[in-house]
Amino acid sequence: MKPHDALYIDGAWRPAASRDVIEVVNPADEQVIGRVPAGGVLDVDTAVRAARAALPGWAATPPAERAGRLAALRDALVARADEIAETVTAELGSPPKLSQAVHAGLPIAVAGSYAELAATHPFEERAGNSTILHEPIGVVGAITPWNYPLHQIVAKVAPALAAGCAIVLKPAEDTPLTAQLFAEAVHEAGLPAGVFNLVTGLGPVAGQALAEHPDVDLVSFTGSTAVGRRIGAVAGGAVKKVALELGGKSANVILPGADLARAVNVGVAHVMSNSGQTCSAWTRMLVHRDQYDEAVELAGAAAAKYGDRIGPLVSARQRDQVRGYIEQGVAEGARLVAGGPEAPRETGYFVAPTVFADVTPEMTIAREEIFGPVLTILRYEDEEDALRIANGTVYGLAGAVWAADDAEAAAFARRMDTGQVDINGGRFNPLAPFGGYKQSGVGRELGTHGLAEYLQTKSLQF
Ligand code: NAD
Repeated sequence: MKPHDALYIDGAWRPAASRDVIEVVNPADEQVIGRVPAGGVLDVDTAVRAARAALPGWAATPPAERAGRLAALRDALVARADEIAETVTAELGSPPKLSQAVHAGLPIAVAGSYAELAATHPFEERAGNSTILHEPIGVVGAITPWNYPLHQIVAKVAPALAAGCAIVLKPAEDTPLTAQLFAEAVHEAGLPAGVFNLVTGLGPVAGQALAEHPDVDLVSFTGSTAVGRRIGAVAGGAVKKVALELGGKSANVILPGADLARAVNVGVAHVMSNSGQTCSAWTRMLVHRDQYDEAVELAGAAAAKYGDRIGPLVSARQRDQVRGYIEQGVAEGARLVAGGPEAPRETGYFVAPTVFADVTPEMTIAREEIFGPVLTILRYEDEEDALRIANGTVYGLAGAVWAADDAEAAAFARRMDTGQVDINGGRFNPLAPFGGYKQSGVGRELGTHGLAEYLQTKSLQF
């Protein structure tokens, strides 16, 4: 696809009012691969008006018909799967296999799940002498990050469409080409003009204008806790609904009875995948003191095997931030067992897969989200100590527990203050609610819980 020199508003590609542009850079070779408009306040306003005008018609469209459009959208994504994977690899830097399987494959599965849910969800229910209507919340402002460029978009747009909402999307500035491809798929799927609108642009300009727009009913944001906090404050001031998917510092708790080698290897893979740019990554590995040395050795060997197999980070800014954290880890006394701050290659924003041992809970690298291929391994004394460390964070997005059997692991998981826990290597489920406890966010995405975010209820008494 040739990048569009335009915004997708009201069913067509239209020139932006703003003359500013965003240069898209391939993080593997640092070359500029495209330019897209950086929409301004006026552009956001035009897009919101288009969404508002399209809302009544789409909200009144029977759910079965909305489901049909969502199925067509899924099919359009399937037809473009190769192009999606190539585009994500070009602007995010992820290895082609990961781009195919996850960056293209996961959003296709999620779009398909909402095609089914739109057709089957009970948008009306009875309670005593009342009929309860689940109605679309209205115009949605969606603001997404770059780490899973298409998944983050589909996890908001698909349930919003299923609910009958109209949407304005402001995607991350680092990965706007994938968002343009998505808009092409929406167009092909035959959605009515104005139901979906795309404004590429900078966060503090277009993103802020969208979050502050008085005619947006729900702001759904995924990104950093710092920006999420501001968006929550703005939305609170205007008494509008907000959904926030923010950062994480998830614990991978390996209890003494677990298969240690498997738990460590899967744990390392979980952190290194997507070069560590995963909000739900298990970046704190918790190991009993009797197994600690063995686990450290296994993790160091596993990380060393990654070598050239992980992609670069998305940007120079992100690489510098991650290297800064690695240097800080060393300065605070943690022990490097793999990787380090040195650049593994001359060009591209690469960081070596890095593992730290002798990490204590108060160290910066154990507390803050690094968002790079950096694993910290912490030692615990007993189960209560492990729980205290696991829950001793401002975040609560995900986690894992490994034990001799599922029941033991699940009993521990019930005591964790976090939104998702994988038991003995349980697989990712695109129907399971995804979202955070504590400062990891407000609200849930995916499945029926994700759909409910875009609905409001009205009850009629008879
Ligand atoms: P970011 O918060 O800087 O940007 C996210 C989005 O917000 C981008 O589209 C950006 O343009 C926009 N934005 C930036 N400033 C804004 C403002 N003032 N007003 C409105 N919008 C603004 O985050 P990032 O660096 O792009 O992404 C990394 C962060 O996102 C990490 O902290 C990560 O944990 C988090 N994240 C969370 C999830 C989740 O589901 N919980 C998923 C992915 C990423």
